[in-house]
Order: sequence, then structure tokens, then C-alpha cells
Amino acid sequence: MRVLVSGAAGFLGSYLTDALLAEGNFVVGVDNLCTGSIHNVKHLEHEPRFELLEHDICRQFDPGAVDYVFNFASPASPVDYARLGVETLRVGSEGTRNMLEIARKYGAKFLHASTSECYGDPSVHPQTEDYWGNVNPVGPRSVYDEAKRFSEALTMAYHRYYNVDTHLVRIFNTYGPRLQHDDGRVISNFMIQALRGEDITVYGEGAQTRSFCYVSDEIDGILGLSRTGEHYPVNVGNPHEWTILECAKAVIRVTGSKSKICFEPLPQDDPLQRQPDISKAKRLFGWEPKIDLETGLKLSLEYFRSFVETHA
Ligand code: UDP
Repeated sequence: MRVLVSGAAGFLGSYLTDALLAEGNFVVGVDNLCTGSIHNVKHLEHEPRFELLEHDICRQFDPGAVDYVFNFASPASPVDYARLGVETLRVGSEGTRNMLEIARKYGAKFLHASTSECYGDPSVHPQTEDYWGNVNPVGPRSVYDEAKRFSEALTMAYHRYYNVDTHLVRIFNTYGPRLQHDDGRVISNFMIQALRGEDITVYGEGAQTRSFCYVSDEIDGILGLSRTGEHYPVNVGNPHEWTILECAKAVIRVTGSKSKICFEPLPQDDPLQRQPDISKAKRLFGWEPKIDLETGLKLSLEYFRSFVETHA
């Protein structure tokens, strides 16, 4: 296949690109590098089946005929989308539309990277795909949440009205090597703080929960979904739920750090709980994650350690 991946220099996009290349496909990556990094695809510099277009998908472009379109471009951490609010809304609307138009033009399949943020601060727990969510449409997270919800609606519309073969994956918190070191996310913040021996900044009392999926599990799930005929959203995440305080303690254990935990104010609209119900993914393509949090943190240790050593 010739595959188009937007956000190919991002965290998930770069792993997806690696997996697609490993299967023997040709990959055209597109990224404007606003949050992605060229370092994430540096190892593909001499790969003849890979090319990277430095381009903003909000502007129309034509990559030539493709068989599959994976739409992964978007700022994704609360710090990044707060900084790039309008850009986030644009990439989730104009950008997604341009990518859908490419799929429509070439009769390609389409998979959109959606998010657990579609559930907002959920009142149903764990979250099943048929829950419509509890999203503040005007709060600080709305630039991301509503962009992603609009992308889902647009993707469904291209399926319903133009018969594009579309898929929607709802991705829960994912981590691993290549996470941005400065995007304010919990795993990168905690790992870097622990390795530097700095205080670990738990927001609120750390009682809020998240469910963390190691990146290789996430990519397996996404590829599994991409081969089904399912058009409605499917959760792909690790169902093991952790409080943020427990997560801080796990990071301290794995790094062997002497860091202390300190408490800082909880950001506005920070969801209290997040846990995917993955029965649909299990039923449709027999997927479930294999790597638990402590194992995944160990697998990420070298990456964060070398970052800390080179940025002492
Ligand atoms: N968090 C924290 N300390 C940090 C960074 C994040 O306690 O240094 C908390 C944050 O308030 C949230 C959770 O960790 O409850 C996950 O935050 P992240 O930014 O990774 O992603 P989110 O799931 O909120 O999009």
C-alpha cells in the first residue's frame, strides 16, 4: 500500500509510520512540525519507502494516489493545545477535511485519531463508546475536545454522504520513548523530575485517574481497527486505571529516585477519571494491551535518562 500519515513526525504518528514501513508499505508523512519533531523520523532518513512533506494540512495538497489515510496531526497535550488553541481547532476541522478529501478523491480508506477527550469529564465509568460525553464547550480544553468531536462528526459525514470507508479510534493516554519532554504531560514530567531528583508535581491531591497505554500496544490496536469494517468509534487504551498519586509512586519506584512528591493546583476542567471499556476492540479484532505501567516505564527509562543527561 501507499499510505498517507498526517502528524508523521509526532509521537504516535512516527510509531505508526515505523509499523506501516515494517509491513512493507510506502509511507508519505506530512507534518508542519508545530509539535512534532524531525528527530522522531530521523532514523528513516535513508528509507526509500518513506518521504516526509513539511506541510500544514490546513492548506490543501495532493500527495498523489494513496490506499490509506491516517489522520494523526494535532497538538495533543494540554500545554500544547492551550498554546496553539486556534491552530488546534483549525487542524481538527480544515485539516481533517483536507485529509478526508484526499481519501475521497483516491478511494482510500481513512482512519482518524480521536481521543478519550471526547468524553470530557465523564459521568459514565468506565467509558463505553456509546457514551456521548460531558464536555465544557467553552473551557480551556474546548479547543482540543471540540476539534476532535467535530473531526468525528465530519468523518462520519464523509462515510454517510460520500461513502468513504472510515474508522475512528478513541485513544486514551499513551506513553513511551519519543514523548515530548516539555509538553507538560504527566509521564514525561514525572520521569524527568524523578531522574533529576526534583520534586514530583502532582496536581490537586492526585486522586484523579488516568489509564496509561504503552505505545506499542496502542499502535497494535490502531492497526487492528484499521483492518476492520467498523465505522463507529472504538476505544483503544489500557483499562488499568491509576490515580495520579499512584502513578507518581510508580515512577519513583522504577527510577529509584529520591524525589519527594509535592502538590500543585489542579488545572481547570481536569477530568476526574478516565478508563476505557475495551470490550468492543476485544470483540472486533481481538485486541488487548500486554504491557503494564511499570514495565512500560522501564522500557521508557533509557529515553528519558539520555534526555536528562544531555540537558543537564
Ligand atoms: N498531572 C500532574 N502533574 C503533572 C502533569 C500532569 O498531576 O506534572 C496530572 C494532570 O492534572 C492530569 C493527569 O496528570 O490529571 C494527566 O495529565 P496529562 O497532561 O498527561 O494529560 P490529560 O489526560 O489531562 O490530557
